[in-house]
Amino acid sequence: MGEGGADDPSGWQADRALRHIVRTIVDYALPPRCPGCGLVVDDDRQFCLSCWSSLTFLDGPACSLCSIPLPAALPGPVTCGACLAAPPPFDGAPSAVAYGPVARTVALRLKYGRRVGHARLMAQLMARPLGKLADAEPVLLVPVPLHRWRLWSRGFNQAALVADELTRLTGIPHDHDLLLRIKATKALRGQGRRERERIVAGAFALGNGAKERAAGRHLVLIDDVHASGATLRAAARALRRSGAARVSALSWARVFPDALMTSNIFDFARVDSDMMDERMTG
Ligand SMILES: [Zn+2]
Ligand SMILES: [Zn+2]
Repeated sequence: MGEGGADDPSGWQADRALRHIVRTIVDYALPPRCPGCGLVVDDDRQFCLSCWSSLTFLDGPACSLCSIPLPAALPGPVTCGACLAAPPPFDGAPSAVAYGPVARTVALRLKYGRRVGHARLMAQLMARPLGKLADAEPVLLVPVPLHRWRLWSRGFNQAALVADELTRLTGIPHDHDLLLRIKATKALRGQGRRERERIVAGAFALGNGAKERAAGRHLVLIDDVHASGATLRAAARALRRSGAARVSALSWARVFPDALMTSNIFDFARVDSDMMDERMTG
């Protein structure tokens, strides 16, 4: 076998390392681009005005458990009818933005392109809902884990990258080994609710020493997209067995039914001058 040949693992690793270095240099050499549409912008972690204004920020009145938007702010925590009838296994499930074309592009570019700048950007916008979740108990961030086969083929876990960035930004610690994915599951897209729950049932388990690390803490699951919620519910059920004081689920983007997205319930979020100022001043 020739040195550095295709079958030589050290040659393959060197090739991979070289590609990583080239990629990093290219990232630095090119002008920063809007993560939503690719337009050249001032800073890598900044949307262009058009993409920014198309995002729907989820900071209006919402169910205290599942975060589905509610028509009007009422005093105290309010729970929606669905959560009253069947409480979810988490104590809160906020997201930074509603899932739409721009939120989707950012999530996909992180997931398939390992754009760490995108993880940072997502974390910046998730820090606000995380701050609202933080309460009496000390918080520990728990990224939704990938099964080891998928981690091996993709090379990284996008939820873990976001959790790392949240820790850098807020100082709130994360734990990558508290929760394990012990079952490789097929994609949930296109499956009915009951089938989704069946697919992810038993997919998660607590890691070694999880109970000691979780006791008395508020565990906050971190994920990129909260779609049907079946994965987050299964993960939260596993975390409940750790002895944690509370379990929540924080995500970058939340998928809502089309009917809700086209209603005027999101009008409050279309123009948020506070956040616009934050963006303009970096
Ligand atoms: Zn843009
Ligand atoms: Zn609810």
